[in-house]
Amino acid sequence: MCGIVGYIGERKAVPILIEGLSALEYRGYDSAGLAMVGDEQLHVHKVKGKVDALRERIKSERLDGTVGIAHTRWATHGGPSEPNAHPHTDHGNAIAVVHNGIIENYAAIKERLKRNGVSFKSETDTEVLAQLIGKYYTDGDLVKAVTKALSDIEGTFGIAVIARDNPDLLIGARRGSPLVVGIGEDEYLLGSDTSAIVAHTDKVIYLKDGHLATLTRNGYSTLTLDNRPASHKVHTLEYGAEALAKGGFDHFMLKEIFEQPETIQNAMRGRLLTEEGTARLDGLNLVMTELRRINRIIFVACGTSWHAALCGEYLMEDLAGIPVEVEYASEFRYRNPIIDSKTLVFVISQSGETADTLAALREAAHKGATVLGICNVVGSSIARETHGGVYLHAGPEIGVASTKAFTSQLTVLSLLTLLMGRMRRISHDDGMAIAKGLDRIPSQVRKILKQNDYIAEIAAIYSRHNNFLYLGRSYNYPVALEGALKLKEISYVHAEGYPAAEMKHGPIALIDTNMPSVVVALKDSVYEKVISNMEEIRARSGKIIAIATEGDKTIQKHADHVVYIPKTLPVLTPLLAVIPLQLLAYHIAAIRKCEIDQPRNLAKSVTVE
Ligand code: GLU
Repeated sequence: MCGIVGYIGERKAVPILIEGLSALEYRGYDSAGLAMVGDEQLHVHKVKGKVDALRERIKSERLDGTVGIAHTRWATHGGPSEPNAHPHTDHGNAIAVVHNGIIENYAAIKERLKRNGVSFKSETDTEVLAQLIGKYYTDGDLVKAVTKALSDIEGTFGIAVIARDNPDLLIGARRGSPLVVGIGEDEYLLGSDTSAIVAHTDKVIYLKDGHLATLTRNGYSTLTLDNRPASHKVHTLEYGAEALAKGGFDHFMLKEIFEQPETIQNAMRGRLLTEEGTARLDGLNLVMTELRRINRIIFVACGTSWHAALCGEYLMEDLAGIPVEVEYASEFRYRNPIIDSKTLVFVISQSGETADTLAALREAAHKGATVLGICNVVGSSIARETHGGVYLHAGPEIGVASTKAFTSQLTVLSLLTLLMGRMRRISHDDGMAIAKGLDRIPSQVRKILKQNDYIAEIAAIYSRHNNFLYLGRSYNYPVALEGALKLKEISYVHAEGYPAAEMKHGPIALIDTNMPSVVVALKDSVYEKVISNMEEIRARSGKIIAIATEGDKTIQKHADHVVYIPKTLPVLTPLLAVIPLQLLAYHIAAIRKCEIDQPRNLAKSVTVE
């Protein structure tokens, strides 16, 4: 997690660093800090709390230097506090470093350094790296000191380093955590992702894993961590700075919910072949014969992406007849999964940097699997390390609680099912029906969004409850999980997602007037069964908010509140049913005055284990 920014150029570094930190704040926000070289001094300022507190802290300081680094933290080692905030400096205050990741052998190195008289100012793992770089920085060669220090440490890092006596050099390096270099005119930036960079340039290098970048005012180069010249590619960014603004919405999350008609469309553009009733996904880099011989798929993901994967399992097994397993990346990486040459592994991650998913990818690749990615961030580690894959093209997702990425993932998984299914058991007519259904989804989402005010009214009625049950069955069981997760993430309200019929095996014990249920009860093959579950809830005085199919009047007898969604094919209903659940969670969190875009303890992209 955490956000890193670095700047070297002709302009004052501090305003650029602060602006970059604000853009990255969704990655971590428990403390913030910056370091800048000016007047042959290393100026370091740190605060507990958010970037605004840092802005306030430095407002009367004269900080004119043109090279600096900054950090917004998501603590792993040592609580959120001023001493633990980054940047960290060495014993002699000669260098400063910001770090994203975990140094696994920090305790042993710390002990060793302490025995040699080094005193520590923080409880972080990162300070060990700062002390090591300082120790090795004896002959003015900062690159050598950094690479030597990095060779001592085990774990993951994305770092930026500056030195007091070298205002002409900014170093970035990475292993396991992301780092992007921005190439401007006589100026260079470092960022954990492009949002810290896009306001200044659209030319970037996604630094390769195990590489280091040296940036001066006159140019840049990339090296391997053992100091050999390394190749790199310069990319042009797809999105401008406007994609990072709230665009008139109170929160990024709401903006992103409302973007879904377009983002779903973008995920399908050029890929959905309505007349042939199939899809083309050239990025998979697999020819038809290779796709045809696949007899098993494993989806690996975390969090919301894992819920999308679960929908993918229903789709793929039901329509394409291919056995699917859905794995938590954090479990998969430490198991001994059975993979053969006919197994296709898909790793799914919005950021493309999720540490557990990345490790699972590597484990699957190690076992000889063909690993494909479904991610949103172009040039991300997962995108680069997979054999091929599909981008979501959803644009930057800033709200920590994922919304538009989820529906884009569902869209891509539907396209994938169409493609694989048409090679197997989906007929031309059925393929066309699914393709046409998909084509209608954006306008149907638009229709659901028109009910925003009505959903806000429902939210107001239920906002004081502290426990919710979310139920769905078949295709909408993962939607129930996702709805519950949204509520937990942003409103800190306890919510359980369950397969509707499973309720009677436990959660029903919780039902009373204080525990409302949100039930996805659509007109599909399990409709009658779900209605029975709703009656079981009502018999125990439980309140019900139902998500129902347009035109279904009967449901009103079984629920206290009903939100209607347009009719579509059952396989596509998750794309619609999740929208009211996103809005419900949003409005409950807003009424409870929660920090919607930056919920406590969470960070957008989980780049630590
Ligand atoms: N492990 C470091 C710390 O706890 C960095 C965490 C991060 O990536 O924000 O300070």
